[in-house]
Amino acid sequence: MQDIIKINIDLSYELKNILNKDDQYTIPIFIPHLGCNNECVFCNQRKISGNLKIHNLEEIRDDIDEHLKYFKNKKKIQIAFFGGSFTGIPIKNQIKYLELANEYISKGKVDSIRISTRPDYINIRILKMLKKYNVTTVELGVQSMDNFVLESSKRGHTSIDVIRAAIIINLLNIELGFQIMIGLPNSNLKLEIMSMSKLLKYNPKQLRIYPVYVLEKSELYDMYLKNKYIPLTLDDAVIRTAEVIKICRSSDVQIIRIGLQSTKEIAVNNSKLFGPVSDNFAEYALSKIVLERLEKEIINKIDVNNVENLKQKIEIFVDKKFISIAVGPNRINKNYLQNKYNICLSVKGE
Ligand code: SF4
Repeated sequence: MQDIIKINIDLSYELKNILNKDDQYTIPIFIPHLGCNNECVFCNQRKISGNLKIHNLEEIRDDIDEHLKYFKNKKKIQIAFFGGSFTGIPIKNQIKYLELANEYISKGKVDSIRISTRPDYINIRILKMLKKYNVTTVELGVQSMDNFVLESSKRGHTSIDVIRAAIIINLLNIELGFQIMIGLPNSNLKLEIMSMSKLLKYNPKQLRIYPVYVLEKSELYDMYLKNKYIPLTLDDAVIRTAEVIKICRSSDVQIIRIGLQSTKEIAVNNSKLFGPVSDNFAEYALSKIVLERLEKEIINKIDVNNVENLKQKIEIFVDKKFISIAVGPNRINKNYLQNKYNICLSVKGE
């Protein structure tokens, strides 16, 4: 009878940048940038601004209170004002929101505040104001570090704006986060790897990676209809995202989001999405990274040219929190390896 080959695989290196991401609770508050004068091709906020609702302070307070009811553990709590351009809204509104969040900090119910904004909406004066109101993290919507890609996406800023903003955020000891996009017009894998490598030099603490989706009522949607922009397939978007994640291993940046999964975010815009849309996008990208390691370990254990090894039983052991990633969504990794090497594969605990 054939022996079962047992392989222990430690995936902590492959997945190091996604570990420990749940060390705090986040209360997300969406602040749309009404009146934004930029024209990012992937965005439809301008066209749908009539449908976007700005929550008044009481509604935001209710939202925060509602979240606070459900937090059970003794984790840190952060209020996150997201929506892209917090420092682009009128200063008096920024202060109103920050004062509200600070009421919770004074009562000891919340620990810190995060905002997201554009790199060209950052300067020393703004950062000092944010710091005064206990903003500990500023997340920059970078999207790409290639100026032609930024121009093709009509971002309205250049990579120099990103560098300048990152330097002064670091200078003021505010935690730095970046958002990048995969599959922007005129982008490619090489440029995305270049972008990530450049950004890591500024010591970001957090990163979000979003594949480009085509949102109805955006300029990208018109380009898509005229065949001037072809969205990435899910496979391509997963491969490119996985390669960008691999670059991050050289740093301690925490990847806090991969892909747009929340139907709530999509519902905010009430628009249809096209492109590499998948609720399991993050799992696909992480499984792709893990697949390389699994394949390498299997090849080390079996002689892939020896017919005697056909249907060899292989049992893989990974940390239980990585089992589903190792198997892959819809068993994509498991099926791929079984078919390619004609083996009988199981991941212990699947
Ligand atoms: S993504 Fe671009 S166009 Fe949309 S709100 Fe932000 S800055 Fe304005």
